[in-house]
Amino acid sequence: MKVGIPKEIKNNENRVGMTPAGVAELIRHGHKVSVQHTAGEGSGFYDDEYRNVGADILPTIEDVYAWADMIVKVKEPIEPEYPLIRNGQVVFTYFHFACDEELTLAMQKSGAVCIAYETVEKKDRSLPLLIPMSEVAGRMAALNGAYYLQRTKGGKGKMMMGVPGVKPAKVLVLGGGTVGEASARIAAGMGADVIITDISLPRLKQLSVEMPANVHTLYSSEHNIKNELRDTDVVIGSVLVPGDAAPKLITRDMLKLMQPGSVLVDVAIDQGGCFETSHPTTHSEPTYMVDGILHYAVANIPGAVPNTSTYALTNATLRYAVSLADKGWEQACRDDEALKKGVNMAYGKITYEAVANVWGLEY
Ligand code: NAD
Repeated sequence: MKVGIPKEIKNNENRVGMTPAGVAELIRHGHKVSVQHTAGEGSGFYDDEYRNVGADILPTIEDVYAWADMIVKVKEPIEPEYPLIRNGQVVFTYFHFACDEELTLAMQKSGAVCIAYETVEKKDRSLPLLIPMSEVAGRMAALNGAYYLQRTKGGKGKMMMGVPGVKPAKVLVLGGGTVGEASARIAAGMGADVIITDISLPRLKQLSVEMPANVHTLYSSEHNIKNELRDTDVVIGSVLVPGDAAPKLITRDMLKLMQPGSVLVDVAIDQGGCFETSHPTTHSEPTYMVDGILHYAVANIPGAVPNTSTYALTNATLRYAVSLADKGWEQACRDDEALKKGVNMAYGKITYEAVANVWGLEY
């Protein structure tokens, strides 16, 4: 199969769909791989490293899309990429259709086979292609929470870890999945007082056993969240209802309960965000203020650490990319239930129920 790796064109997105080691593996399986000129540079992978493992380097994004049977990338296609994608072409990437109607309609019109990393789902309901980026984003969310608490960054001027005689910050993590666990662990490592919430009791039990002593678990309800907000310095939003928009756990009204200069980090923004006042931001303008509360809602947090992120992403996607290339997408999905769940649409037909429901489309 002809596999194309284009350069990401979303704002400050420096990750790339595959490391040179991943490309080498596809080539070892007898496939041809073309990488767009400088596609890997932002992650620290240069054209020559791809050439050395047998890839061709193509000069433009148009060349890559026109040549490839399957595109492997990172972020959802954005408007300039829509016309490059053609009927039957496999596009293997993050899509997050549930929060982007324009993208959903554009991909439906293109007739592409859209296999979404975020909905590839194993029998135990884990999401193997979301996990590596969640591991990164969760760690970064805690770091960003600490950073934006600084007065000079718009925060209330409090150190996450306190100093002898001065209490540390209090961090409330909403959603105790991969992002939440990573955030809580890093915030706790910095010395913060951490509360982590979830609606899954087994998950809360597991977290209460595994987390450090300065992390406490709490069942997620509006009442409990309201109670905690009064003295919380940083809230990290990390809930997920797979394939669906995130529930709004903090309304605008609830911001009044918080002290000015508190920080909301909405990691779930790629699923619409879990705070009513969230809207997506970028690495160039990551924050904005609503009613005295600083909001950070960057939709591609791992893009800030592209070297680590690209390695982590390729570690997870490669086996699926190899299977898609070896067998073709239909056979690969027949053989692997987890991969089959990733297919969100094919030839203009929506094949993922939650996406169809969100936009009132035929399923
Ligand atoms: P996950 O499935 O591992 O965890 C989600 C958790 O939320 C689950 O434990 C679930 O029980 C819990 N949950 C669901 N409804 C809840 C509620 N009402 N209250 C409390 N908890 C609730 O998901 P994850 O991998 O941790 O991802 C979390 C979110 O972060 C997703 O939307 C994901 O797309 C997003 N994400 C964003 C970025 C970014 O750059 N902004 C990067 C990676 C992941």
